[in-house]
Amino acid sequence: MPDIIQLLPDAIANQIAAGEVVQRPASAVKELIENAIDADATHIKLIIKDAGKALLQVIDNGKGMSETDARMSLERHATSKIRKAEDLFTLHTMGFRGEALASIAAVSQLEIKTRQAKEELGTLLVVEASEVKKQEPAACDKGTSISVKNLFYNIPARRNFLKSNSVEVKHIVDEFQRLALAYPNIAFTYVNTDDVEIDVTAGKLSQRIIALFGKSFQQQLAPCEEETDYVKITGYVGRPESAKKTRGEQFLFVNNRFIRSNYLHHAVMMAFEGLLPENSFPFYVLFLTLDPKHIDVNVHPTKTEIKFDDERAVYGVVQASVRQALGAHSLRPSLDFQ
Ligand code: ADP
Ligand code: MG
Repeated sequence: MPDIIQLLPDAIANQIAAGEVVQRPASAVKELIENAIDADATHIKLIIKDAGKALLQVIDNGKGMSETDARMSLERHATSKIRKAEDLFTLHTMGFRGEALASIAAVSQLEIKTRQAKEELGTLLVVEASEVKKQEPAACDKGTSISVKNLFYNIPARRNFLKSNSVEVKHIVDEFQRLALAYPNIAFTYVNTDDVEIDVTAGKLSQRIIALFGKSFQQQLAPCEEETDYVKITGYVGRPESAKKTRGEQFLFVNNRFIRSNYLHHAVMMAFEGLLPENSFPFYVLFLTLDPKHIDVNVHPTKTEIKFDDERAVYGVVQASVRQALGAHSLRPSLDFQ
């Protein structure tokens, strides 16, 4: 029998990997904005058309890429962020897998415009389903603009699987809000089909929360602060009176990365015990900072799950810090449920 195993061509391998990294327009938005953050941008603009199905574009004023790097950025496992295995334990960037651009490029029509500050001219790259169609010098602003057109155009099954525009836009706005919360020192703009829907200037976290969620939060935020050898906690919890019947305004970040954790959500809820009306959820934006060696963010490509080496310690500190925040602000249960 002849040997029959072959390596897959890159374009196919990337397309398969894309299934993991890019589930929907919102996942591409997350990856592109994270790249802009890693590039030290101070202003990040997101533009979408047709819920990101026709276009999603992220424009940043960060450090840009050289022509060679722009080309290289499309290769799978190509990254400027880690060099060796040990770097995984001292991560200080959002990205590190070197998969996002390769994956997005495999399932869309991609256009990159990028220029480093020191260069006169930048680079334009046009890519379709991993194939570079155009690469040429181009006049452009300092920083990087990446346009993703017709996401999944070459995978009809996947494209048909996308939800209605309102659902896809909701996912995009969720990602956008999480990143805008995590980086209040960066200005963000969000434009949906020519309308500026969110435009937030750089400032403090409390200002960012109010800019994103409304003035009603002005009197409702109790600061949370706690530090142990293991973990530091900062952020805000909403007063019990501002709790809502629906979930969706609970934000937990670990080393500035949005994560989901039922376990730590439970810690917050326990701290609110007796203060909330039944079936309601308090607002919170909590940042946990700990030595990267204590966490593993490499659990899943979308990185919203995380493993701590001592989860119970984190639980305890989260609960204590929220209790402290509520107590320190002499919050009493409001009259209707006393
Ligand atoms: P990762 O972020 O995991 O490194 P990506 O595929 O998202 O992988 O990006 C590959 C590389 O392209 C990055 O490591 C970075 O060097 C470069 N890059 C991507 N986006 C930008 C950007 N907006 N500005 C500057 N460099 C970028
Ligand atoms: Mg990235």
